[in-house]
Amino acid sequence: MASFARSVPLYTLNRSHEAFLRAGRVIPGGVNSPARAFGAVGGEPPFMSHAEGAYLYDIDGHKYIDYIGSWGPMILGHGRSEVKSAVASALETGTSFGAPTLREVEIAEAVIGAVPSIEKVRFVSSGTEASMSAVRVARGVTGRDKIVKMAGHYHGHVDALLVQAGSAATTLGTPNSPGVTAGAAADTILCEFNDIAEICEVFARFPGQIAAVLLEPVAGNMGLVPPDPGYLEALREITEKDGAILLFDEVMTGFRLALGGAQELFGITPDLTALGKIVGGGLPAAAYGASKRLMDFVSPAGPIYQAGTLSGNPLAMAAGLTTLNLLKTENPYPKLDGLSSRLAEGLTRAMTDAGVPHVVQRVGSMLTLFFNANPVHNYADAKRSDTALFGRFFWEMLARGVYLPCSQYEAAFVSAAHTEDDIDQTIEAAGQAIRAAIA
Ligand SMILES: *Cc1c(COP(=O)(O)O)cnc(C)c1O
Repeated sequence: MASFARSVPLYTLNRSHEAFLRAGRVIPGGVNSPARAFGAVGGEPPFMSHAEGAYLYDIDGHKYIDYIGSWGPMILGHGRSEVKSAVASALETGTSFGAPTLREVEIAEAVIGAVPSIEKVRFVSSGTEASMSAVRVARGVTGRDKIVKMAGHYHGHVDALLVQAGSAATTLGTPNSPGVTAGAAADTILCEFNDIAEICEVFARFPGQIAAVLLEPVAGNMGLVPPDPGYLEALREITEKDGAILLFDEVMTGFRLALGGAQELFGITPDLTALGKIVGGGLPAAAYGASKRLMDFVSPAGPIYQAGTLSGNPLAMAAGLTTLNLLKTENPYPKLDGLSSRLAEGLTRAMTDAGVPHVVQRVGSMLTLFFNANPVHNYADAKRSDTALFGRFFWEMLARGVYLPCSQYEAAFVSAAHTEDDIDQTIEAAGQAIRAAIA
């Protein structure tokens, strides 16, 4: 199979191609989560054999500097020895009990110690479950049905939240996947991120009917889009005034932008928070939390039902707890910020030198290089990016040993295992890759 990077003919993925064909016969699209199939950039994905520190290794013998970090969890890099030994010792004592364990209490205490708005927390197994359950709590507690969701924000594959990104005008949601009924999405109101006037209109139109405003406080799932100054403050004020819940989906930003997530970084306290990714330390775990008052509505303390056979799984709790403890003791955030700003500046320089319209957006260790002449404030802006150029650039980077997120509409992650040398190599590769991509 030929390389998808035209300028690097020696970069071939023959074994991965065989594996992808085989996978396609038994798994829909050959993958267990859609983005991994490279649909947004064309071509076929390398299959991975192992990972260590800041690097991924594929079955064709290539090494990559990893900027997806398993799409967020691997903030410490791959294979941290402390995490591995914690999981190994958990493995020795039992992989699942279906009965309470002390580790669950310890990680709950660690989460509460880190995240400003959380006084009680419930563990689940995926970010999808966390946001779904948090929405149920918001509705159950308020006795209201409607949920405000931002265009381009992603909260997992929850029926009510899989709603088409609309135009800037406020519209009642229509489902964007077959299998999601109109009824399931009927109470979802779409808004454009960073538009205070629109949110005010929505609350004026549905006073006392909105259970929650749900958002990624820093959007990562349409590429990295920060909140405009004053936007989160405005949401906090308007939800409080109406008695609606402010629900931060910090599945991506939690423990990433600061130990206490975006809510710590921006000093805004939401009512409810969904967590995932880093909280499981690379194993399947996620969580949602809030004040004692709200969380005591959750079963068995209260009437809102939510449960899980593998919730609080011993291996996942061991990986998550060890990761949170390392983040607390090592405080990698200043280092992450330094490396990420070096990367952002280098990418900007490389694109400017090549004369390519672009904007690099970054908050902490999350960043996106948009092939877009203007700053991106919302989904409509993001949609104006040159995704064809991104696809070519992506492949040219891959062929040069840099694994970026395989879509223009994803954030790249820097980990504590990256070095300045990794960053500089990445910038060097970007300079070559962009020239090849526009040639
Ligand atoms: C990844 C993500 C989810 C979904 O988490 P899964 O573990 O993939 O179900 C939800 N919300 C946000 C903001 C995410 O980034």
